[in-house]
Amino acid sequence: MIDYESELNEEQRKAVTAPLGPILVIAGAGSGKTRTLTYRVSYLIEKQIKPDHILLATFTNKAAREMLHRVERLVRADTSKIWGGTFHHLCNRILRNHATTIGFEQNFTIIDREDSLSLLSECIQELNIKHSGKLFPSPEALLEIFSLSVNKVKPLWKIIDESFPHFSAYAEDISKLQKLFNERKKKSQLVDYDDLLSYTVKLFQENEKICRFYQSYFEYILVDEYQDTSRIQADFIDMLAQRSHQVMAVGDDAQSIYSWRGAEIENILTFPKKYPSALVVNIKTNYRSTPEILALANAAIEANQLQFPKELKAIRKSLKESKPLLLSCSTAASQSIEIANQIEKFKAQGIDYNEIAILYRAHFHALEIQLELTRRKIPFEITSGIRFFEQAHIKDICAFLRFYINPYDETAFKRIVKMFPGVGQKTVSKLWEEYITITGSIEKLNPPKVSSKAWKNWLDLQKILASKEYENNPSKQLEAILNGVYMEYLKVLYESYQRRLEDIEGLISFASNYDSTENFLSQVSLLTGVDTAQDEKNGVRLSTIHQAKGLEWKIVFLIMLCDGLFPSNYSLKHAALLEEERRLFYVAATRAKDQLFLCYPRSRSFNYRETLYLPSRFVEEIPKNLLVEAKLP
Ligand code: ATP
Ligand code: MG
Repeated sequence: MIDYESELNEEQRKAVTAPLGPILVIAGAGSGKTRTLTYRVSYLIEKQIKPDHILLATFTNKAAREMLHRVERLVRADTSKIWGGTFHHLCNRILRNHATTIGFEQNFTIIDREDSLSLLSECIQELNIKHSGKLFPSPEALLEIFSLSVNKVKPLWKIIDESFPHFSAYAEDISKLQKLFNERKKKSQLVDYDDLLSYTVKLFQENEKICRFYQSYFEYILVDEYQDTSRIQADFIDMLAQRSHQVMAVGDDAQSIYSWRGAEIENILTFPKKYPSALVVNIKTNYRSTPEILALANAAIEANQLQFPKELKAIRKSLKESKPLLLSCSTAASQSIEIANQIEKFKAQGIDYNEIAILYRAHFHALEIQLELTRRKIPFEITSGIRFFEQAHIKDICAFLRFYINPYDETAFKRIVKMFPGVGQKTVSKLWEEYITITGSIEKLNPPKVSSKAWKNWLDLQKILASKEYENNPSKQLEAILNGVYMEYLKVLYESYQRRLEDIEGLISFASNYDSTENFLSQVSLLTGVDTAQDEKNGVRLSTIHQAKGLEWKIVFLIMLCDGLFPSNYSLKHAALLEEERRLFYVAATRAKDQLFLCYPRSRSFNYRETLYLPSRFVEEIPKNLLVEAKLP
């Protein structure tokens, strides 16, 4: 029997031991929401609910596994039959049972982003859309439009209207493309991530019997991080819980950080309306952090207008030196050196590397720190789908540089030519053949008609890169590539172009540490190899804040807290985006248990100018007495 009295506080206990009706736990960071969910699962098992009749939706599959391990220790039950995991994982399990009902074979294949992109590119060619002078959205941008339409359960034209008005001239073509794309997937038995959600919901909508089966099959449904669910995910849950109302959702509106991917904060706010008999529980105690860290986080989120005021009190006692430290460093490099020093100090005190995390807003913010940790042989692990140098736009812009340095670099050549509008795989191969037979001179090549302007720009660029002013100045060369050629492609090739532009600006600044283009390029390829080799379970964790959601560490460093970087210049222009970034800051600060470091460099060289930075306004908003400031050289 679990000792609920000693393991949970009153609020948590109320939620855990409530009757099987709907429950919403809406509470601040570190208040034990995930813990409450875990104990609720254990409680259900103690109440003889069979594990395979429990459904638990989590932010990552790993999170579900960890929660279920804990349940096993609590009630000594076999939890392997519990339906636990991400929405995609859960929908996949359901769809496999009913594939034929929706016109698929049971062994359909799930395709990832890369596969989707190449299939979509084929569809674009097949449809042979006439560009009316304006640039047509890239496959990436199209996928983003499709995905938002699925996740927000809105028709395509509405998504285009709301978020992509610059593509409105192509609304009809985009819709035709989507239709073809879906047909092609179906024909080849392929299902992408969004399909998993939309087909499952469709299955339930169109097959009452199946829907009813699952409605009575799942006796209890639990959802963690509910504030970041999209409309279709919430619909999925609502359909399953429609008759029983046996559902528990936990979340924190102050931690909603995925609106750009279609998450809707309304889901959590309207839960009590959808389930009028819901027990709403608010936990007011924070168990994770020292009072000093919590005071800082609370003060930071207070500046948001759209926030529901919440009082969260720390239950932990202060530690020696537990006030968060604000480290002002002269450059990003010195910031990295200082952090590495601190990490070595903590290690000497007996703190394991895996109890330390370095968090940042965007991947490129972690360049210098990756280098410094590598240099000091401090093991680290990067949580991220894509590593900085493996991102397509970084590879793109480096391809120009690589080709300039080594005109026999086939990969770079092909990558560049493929970016040109209207150039397909066939043309690329043909041009390369021609190019090597005429011993490597692009001047002598016949540019494909569609992209003769792009070709000319490339030739001009080659001359600029070789000019005295640019020679062996990788930073300046990258800038020339960006302004001369690449900016135009960036806008059409990818979604979230703003985000990618920031990455490239980071790369340019990073390159300014090198006075040889070759050295720069070899360091780049080295880094790509190094961080894979260095991946260790016992390393310091490097992660974007988005991916650190729900997790905690003893020591947390938040880096690159400069105004213009975090919040980004782009979000400064939009009140709603700025509030979302502030919530991101709140998520970041609340990951720390014992020690929180806020770090920012005062300058960074970019555009061949020294850019001076002010600390992030999120830091400035915090009352001075909640911090200890240290100015480092
Ligand atoms: P987040 O908002 O970041 O997801 P959360 O609300 O889910 O946080 P948890 O991760 O469940 O919070 O809990 C934070 C920490 O506090 C964990 O280490 C957890 O074990 C501990 N904790 C929570 N409640 C209690 C409690 N009643 N007694 C002891 N420790 C607790
Ligand atoms: Mg949690």
